[in-house]
Amino acid sequence: MKIRRYKKVNKRLGFYINNFGFRQPYQLLVDGTFCYAALNNKINIANNIPRYLQGDIKLLTTQCAIIEMENLGPKLNGALLILKKYVIHKCGHEGKPILGSQCFLSMLGSKNENHYIIATQDRDLQDIVRNKPGVPLLYLHSKTPILEQPSELSMKAVKDKLANLCETEKIALEELKLKGGIVSNEEKPKKRKKKGPNPLSCKKKRYKPNLQTVTISKKESRPEVEKRKRKRIKIPKHVKEELLKIKTNE
Ligand SMILES: [Zn+2]
Repeated sequence: MKIRRYKKVNKRLGFYINNFGFRQPYQLLVDGTFCYAALNNKINIANNIPRYLQGDIKLLTTQCAIIEMENLGPKLNGALLILKKYVIHKCGHEGKPILGSQCFLSMLGSKNENHYIIATQDRDLQDIVRNKPGVPLLYLHSKTPILEQPSELSMKAVKDKLANLCETEKIALEELKLKGGIVSNEEKPKKRKKKGPNPLSCKKKRYKPNLQTVTISKKESRPEVEKRKRKRIKIPKHVKEELLKIKTNE
């Protein structure tokens, strides 16, 4: 079971590492509700969460989250003490504190550029986080920490990013092809003109007709010789003598 859990966490964390630039130490933005649940379940956040995420973490909170806990009364003092140990990131609400969930939302901004992982048991804040792509959500299920599976919005954001990348790559490729095409189009015709098949074909043509004429002349000459020979043969010596005798007698 433990191995399966670690594989799940690796896969989920890997999604944010590969697609949203998350790096160690992971920045955990923790609120009072998470500290309260951890305290109730006797979980040491600073020890258990790095082990669960298999990496270094920074535990952070905001002044608004601390003030909210202070306002909820003495029952939450134990959780408040834990929360106060964490590094306080400036939220811009100093002097005018707002709700912890609203403060965390403003910390995330539009793109969660600081790569915060939100650690909360507040269901309203959890829903807000699920509606923001690229924001991992960590909560406790009794004693078990759970890094929630990336939301559909996060998945969609990644798909859109990839699609945009593909489009930009296509455009870049087309531009390269056009550039390459211009170069190749200029070169190819030159090569064709220089290398063109005409000289070779001319050579062949020159040779061929010569050969043909020679063969033809030979063929033509032979029958002439034969004809002459035949003519000579046709008149035998006896006949000639007889003819000569006849001529002399005449
Ligand atoms: Zn604030």
